Amino acid sequence: MAGWEIKEAQFIEKYLLEEDIWKMFNYIFSSKTVKATSYKFVFLKSIIECVYDVNLEGKILLTDIFARFTRIYWYLIVKHNLRQCTKAIRSGKASINIIFEKYIKFDQQLMFCEYDSIDDNIKKCIESEVYAECKEYVVGAFYNDTGGSVYSFSLRENYIKFNPQVLSFIQKYSNVLLKLNYFEWISFLEKNNSGESCYSIASKLHEASKRTNLTLYKDFLYFNTDEEETRCFYCNRAIAYNKIHVDHFIPWSFIKSDRLWNLVNSCPVCNLSKSDKLTEKYFLDKLINRDEKLLLRNELIIVKDFNVYSKERLINYYNAAEFCGFKKWKTIKPKGIMV
Ligand SMILES: [Zn+2]
Repeated sequence: MAGWEIKEAQFIEKYLLEEDIWKMFNYIFSSKTVKATSYKFVFLKSIIECVYDVNLEGKILLTDIFARFTRIYWYLIVKHNLRQCTKAIRSGKASINIIFEKYIKFDQQLMFCEYDSIDDNIKKCIESEVYAECKEYVVGAFYNDTGGSVYSFSLRENYIKFNPQVLSFIQKYSNVLLKLNYFEWISFLEKNNSGESCYSIASKLHEASKRTNLTLYKDFLYFNTDEEETRCFYCNRAIAYNKIHVDHFIPWSFIKSDRLWNLVNSCPVCNLSKSDKLTEKYFLDKLINRDEKLLLRNELIIVKDFNVYSKERLINYYNAAEFCGFKKWKTIKPKGIMV
């Protein structure tokens, strides 16, 4: 497989038009780059979904990308029993499948577990085995297939660093790119899973990136910040703790990441009514003020989640979601809103 032997490389520095980047993605989405396993599709999904988690230099740890990669595969293989390789692989199983089976053989209860409910230490072990096994196949191969234009990477130093031009492109078109990726992937899975229709596969791929449990964020905002955070971010009414919904300010269906700078406590009425819509601008200003206040604090959760935050980024993401067609939530500006 071309590119597998590359251990580190720099992205090619040249000015790219959007048209050049589309051409490169069109090639990636074509059947020309399909391999004997679905690694390419899952890696691409993981990369597209992690563009909101890169630090201000455009870097992200490969182990973080592979944690997402593992979670997606767990959902597809363990929960839905979807075969992830062609008949060209004699064992009939992708290596990631064999890793999962090893852990399930050791503890059969795992077979019934959502990935998030698995003990953190076991998850770490699974992820590091998946990383060790799969990184050779995908990171260099993807670099090669994209002509070295998407990222620099080092397997030894465990990171990729996005070409800033491609990073902005992926952030702008992430929803479209995810859907284009599904097209060839569905056709690959349909061929290798008899009895599965493209409709049922499509919904599984879409559901494969599960949200994590957000209680940690709910508690932090409710108990460790201003009195204001015990009120609904949107309607300003006081909320009882057990009624709180944690809301992704920029909808989760656009930013598939759970970070404090994009999370607010909301009452059930506002949360359900807002659903995956965008708010009016004044709530964005309110969130920026809230986040700027949080940034002044030193707690671990803030340091960890805000290392990828900047006010300008938040504004860009909001505008990108609007560009991608996310509808506006019609609500009345509550009295006394502090912006
Ligand atoms: Zn409310």
